Amino acid sequence: MSQLLYEGKAKKMFTTDDPDVLRVEYKNDATAFNGKKKAVFPGKGKLNNAICTKIFHVLKENNLPTHFIEKISETEQLVKAVDIVPIEVVVRNIVAGSLAKRLGLDEGTDLGQTIVEFYYKSDELGDPMINDDHALATKIATEEELAEIRRQALSVNEVLQALFAEAGILLVDFKLEFGKLKSNGGIVLADEISPDTCRLWDKETHEKLDKDVFRRNIADLPETYEKLLSRLEAVK
Ligand code: ADP
Ligand code: UDP
Repeated sequence: MSQLLYEGKAKKMFTTDDPDVLRVEYKNDATAFNGKKKAVFPGKGKLNNAICTKIFHVLKENNLPTHFIEKISETEQLVKAVDIVPIEVVVRNIVAGSLAKRLGLDEGTDLGQTIVEFYYKSDELGDPMINDDHALATKIATEEELAEIRRQALSVNEVLQALFAEAGILLVDFKLEFGKLKSNGGIVLADEISPDTCRLWDKETHEKLDKDVFRRNIADLPETYEKLLSRLEAVK
């Protein structure tokens, strides 16, 4: 028996016969600006599933722990069930998006060092930025968990920068979510990594290969994601 556990903006999460395993279904919906802008793109779920699967395989090859088990259909994956730590972890290598606005910096400026930011995952509050002290005081995570999350986020950044570099792509910034395994509380990377959650620019032209094409009405989303997928598939 499979029950719908949760329907989010981009995915549906279902139970499976194994309480430690969930089935994820990627939807064709795209949302931006906290759900204020919405559209449906036939084929998007399939593209996100394929891109995310490729990325999770590469993370696994590099011994990084994730919730990913396997892709089971064009739009579905099996993942390990976790208790999501309600923090959106944003990793930045190049200035873009909210960082450009907040600090008045030009988009495209190389940061020279990686920045890790934490946002409290709450649609109602609009995902406010928090620091370690906020997370500790509100018991969102322990000091050890925060350190582990930061360590893993930086490792994911290194592996993905190298992967995208091989495809001639700059990893500008991205968002991660982590969860605690039901079995032993260990922290693993969860949710998805896809052009919905990353900013990816062609290395030479800075052409956008991510959801900014939808946010800013720059180009067709499925065509853009298709282009990204074929460039990733060309990497060994
Ligand atoms: P949103 O909730 O932002 O609309 P999605 O449509 O992507 O996002 O929904 C997926 C939901 O499932 C998210 O809330 C995410 O935190 C959660 N999730 C992701 N991976 C797991 C997992 N392995 N176990 C439990 N929940 C997960
Ligand atoms: N991001 C995301 N989900 C969010 C907020 C941000 O996946 O709810 C990703 C976004 O795609 C980008 C990075 O995190 O790759 C940094 O986003 P930013 O803070 O610049 O916010 P934005 O202006 O994109 O909302």
